[in-house]
Amino acid sequence: MVTPNMHYAELKDSYLFYNISLKTKKYLEENPDKKLLRLGIGDVSLPLCDEVIKALHSAVDDQSNKENFHGYMPEAGAPFLRSAIANYYRSRNVDLADDEVFVSSGASDELGDILDLFDRSSSALVIEPAYPAYVDANVMAGRKIIHLASSKEDGFLPVPSDEAVADILYICSPNNPTGAVFDKDKLKKWVDFANKNGSVIIFDAAYEAFIEDDTLPRSIFEIEGARTCAIEICSFSKTAGFTGTRLGYTVIPKDLKRNGMCFNDMWLRNRTTKTNGVSYIIQKGGAAVFTEEGLKQIHANIEIYKNNARVLMEVLDKLGIWYCGGKNSPYIWMKCPNNMGSWEFFDLLLTKIQVVGTPGEGFGACGEGYFRFSMFGSLEDTKEAANRLYELLK
Ligand code: PLP
Repeated sequence: MVTPNMHYAELKDSYLFYNISLKTKKYLEENPDKKLLRLGIGDVSLPLCDEVIKALHSAVDDQSNKENFHGYMPEAGAPFLRSAIANYYRSRNVDLADDEVFVSSGASDELGDILDLFDRSSSALVIEPAYPAYVDANVMAGRKIIHLASSKEDGFLPVPSDEAVADILYICSPNNPTGAVFDKDKLKKWVDFANKNGSVIIFDAAYEAFIEDDTLPRSIFEIEGARTCAIEICSFSKTAGFTGTRLGYTVIPKDLKRNGMCFNDMWLRNRTTKTNGVSYIIQKGGAAVFTEEGLKQIHANIEIYKNNARVLMEVLDKLGIWYCGGKNSPYIWMKCPNNMGSWEFFDLLLTKIQVVGTPGEGFGACGEGYFRFSMFGSLEDTKEAANRLYELLK
């Protein structure tokens, strides 16, 4: 009889969004006349920008005639998209070769698949509160996980410590759920730490385009020394509204080597074995994001989400509530008032003002007592939610 991967039995139930949907469903059944304002789930609400739509249509037409038709795409990505992404980095003074960029069908897929590059015995350090996929993907692989708690005291941006050394280090900046962003000095400490210990950083840059403060790094490769210790995983989901369209990319420098093995070569071998590339049509749509007009249009959408954040931040400031995020991120991470627990605060907002957010405890034990709001909804709903929050807590 086959033995299943028994590590799946060690996974904790992913109860967070399930529990939120159960609670909201029950509330609506009991209060059918109420309208909920949903500031919980991290999905986008704005459609793809015009430049992307134009490119998608034109790529569909290409597939209709013999001259322009595309069959299988190169496994690591179409040269036109790899080059557009590398140019995007170059425009931010990060020098990458085109073949250091791998096109993917999304960051979630890559966060799971990339673990193929590491021995099963390697350990993983996860800074918490964290995006749940980091822990779960490593539990499935049976890896030892070191949970490093961050806190209000360190601004949810902890520095490395010799007490918590691991082979794989996850860093997400701007962070989901806290919205906190590492500055160059703090990120340099992690880069030096990884190089000293021979670790590899998996840098999740899914929200890089939300950074408006030019002094903050949008890529780990802005930090000296990162080329020998980091892999960057990025997504078109939140920056360009591709959550349902699916596209991402991964940067693996050729200088990243351990035990004589080059991670860039290994990943190419992995991709050529395990994928047949991402759809031509979608890659064409993705390339349009990096045109001058495309960048302008995606930033206009990001600005709409950031304006939502400003509305809520203003109210939290007026109420004197501690929070981080919002400025360079689509998430606001607030301290629950009166030392309330995360779920207690969730219930209060749901039942008293019909606002739905995400309890911080769902992102790791140290998230207890905190609450995440996401800014991907409409301005109208965000304004209404902010007003109700003010009236409730003033
Ligand atoms: N990484 C982080 C930090 C995220 O918040 C998300 C999505 O919410 C992802 C990765 C997944 O992105 P994708 O839609 O490209 O799979």
